[in-house]
Amino acid sequence: MTELLIRNACVFDPLNGIRGDVMDIAIRDGRIVESVQNNADVIDASGFLTLPGGIDSHSHVCGTKVNFGRYMSPEDMRAGRTARRGKMHVTSGYYVPTTYGNSYRYSTMGYTTVLEGAMAPLEARHTHEEFNATPLQDMLANTLFDGNWSIMEAVHAQDVKRAAAIVAWTLSSVRGFAIKLTNPGGTEAWGWGGDLTGIRDPVPNFNVTPAEIITTMIEANELLHLPHSVHLHCNNLGKPGNYATTLETFGLVPDLNKNRQTLYATHVQFHAYGGSTWRDICSKADEITKSVNAKPQIVMDMGQIMFGRTMTMTADGPMEFNLYCLHHNKWSNHDVELETGSGIIPVLYSKKSLVNCVMWAIGLELALLTKNPYQCLLATDNPNGAPFVKYPEIIGLLMSKRYRDEECATLHDGIDQRTSISSIDREMDWNEIAIITRAGQARALGIAAQGKGHLAPGAEADLAIYPIRCDDVDPATEYRKVVEGFQKTRFTIKRGRVVARDGDVIVDGANTTFWVNPTIPDEHNVANDPEFVKKFEEYYTVRMSNYPVQDVYLPRGRCIKTEADI
Ligand SMILES: [Zn+2]
Repeated sequence: MTELLIRNACVFDPLNGIRGDVMDIAIRDGRIVESVQNNADVIDASGFLTLPGGIDSHSHVCGTKVNFGRYMSPEDMRAGRTARRGKMHVTSGYYVPTTYGNSYRYSTMGYTTVLEGAMAPLEARHTHEEFNATPLQDMLANTLFDGNWSIMEAVHAQDVKRAAAIVAWTLSSVRGFAIKLTNPGGTEAWGWGGDLTGIRDPVPNFNVTPAEIITTMIEANELLHLPHSVHLHCNNLGKPGNYATTLETFGLVPDLNKNRQTLYATHVQFHAYGGSTWRDICSKADEITKSVNAKPQIVMDMGQIMFGRTMTMTADGPMEFNLYCLHHNKWSNHDVELETGSGIIPVLYSKKSLVNCVMWAIGLELALLTKNPYQCLLATDNPNGAPFVKYPEIIGLLMSKRYRDEECATLHDGIDQRTSISSIDREMDWNEIAIITRAGQARALGIAAQGKGHLAPGAEADLAIYPIRCDDVDPATEYRKVVEGFQKTRFTIKRGRVVARDGDVIVDGANTTFWVNPTIPDEHNVANDPEFVKKFEEYYTVRMSNYPVQDVYLPRGRCIKTEADI
């Protein structure tokens, strides 16, 4: 039995209604408990800001496309080098670091759980191998279904139960966590040299529309009682005028779940553009947030961009091809047979570019104009909008109007005509920051029941103690202290163990991968369906028996079982 007592912590725990109380936190064997014995180890938090461990609900850190991003950026590997120290691995890279680089940096920032935004089922093994090499965060995998042939056939047949059965078999086979749709139907169309311009265009060869894929998958998701909702990267990412597609998509979403949203829309900054060309692009964050404010069934994340060099990577192959045509820089694209695709290109977000300045403002506007902080979470679509190490600066910007004004003064003059960022006075408080970086994520991903994102007895003892005194620091004026404070925790505690202290990782970790196994009746199990098996053997380059990921890939996997309603 190991026990730890954290004394004098200034706690914000939104899911339990705790707002800045100075209190003690007791931990036994990795979980929060009511009390511990007198001989427990003690950490004095000295009145510092103490939050549940940070949760990133959309980040790209593991898997084939991230690794290809590393291949494509040898210049980045010179950045961020740290030497081997004790049990700590050597790290390198800034915007696409090594897995250990990602893990250590997240940990020193107080993050203890990360959802990988896109895993192609066929390439799941690589993702899980890299999860194991991201030792200080518990991991979850969004699993791509956007161009899945069997799913599109089920959608065409209007057979929601079959779609659900395919999802159940696939998630449990590849140890996935949630349904991800990236530009649904669009990457498949592009694989045939085509493209889709909106959610009502038919996908070639399948005669289904993105709208039909989205609504069927939302229903299938709820039939399976998955912890998370459908996680959607909308169609038409990054195109001027695309806010109309985003609003039309939001209009499709029914309110089907009392505990969480029905749709998680990711990196909405990239989907909130007005205008018709790059010359007249403008913010439509007001229209998008008006829609979200009226629809509790939708949660989004910001997809904030920050200025500097980074790498974009996504399953949205056609979008990356369009970006390549714009930049003519390095580019790669990839087709994942029968399932999805991907693309990667480097990018530089510049303060001299009006387009980039408008993008920067839109992300902040989305967060500041969304009334309920549980509905707009902090993320950069790491590394697409910016590497996650920029989160502290984003927190500073959301808490300080003065910081935003000072930044705006360094940007392209056109920003005031194209966005409303300068007219927004809202400044977030500590509680709201705790929501948009952990409580909101835990609720949206449906993992609060797994003990994530809060500090009630029974919860996992994942905590971040930041060297910030909330009673002493005024975020509106002393935003630099806020930014600095969120960069390095005083202590990061993972499952009851101090893993990072004052910016240094001090122990090797042992994470967990959460995956979902929906139980469905035998007659719906597609593994017993001759038609499904025949298709698989006919079209995949792997045998169906070789497709499932073996247990050895998840040495510390934790299965979440659900009972499907089919
Ligand atoms: Zn993403």
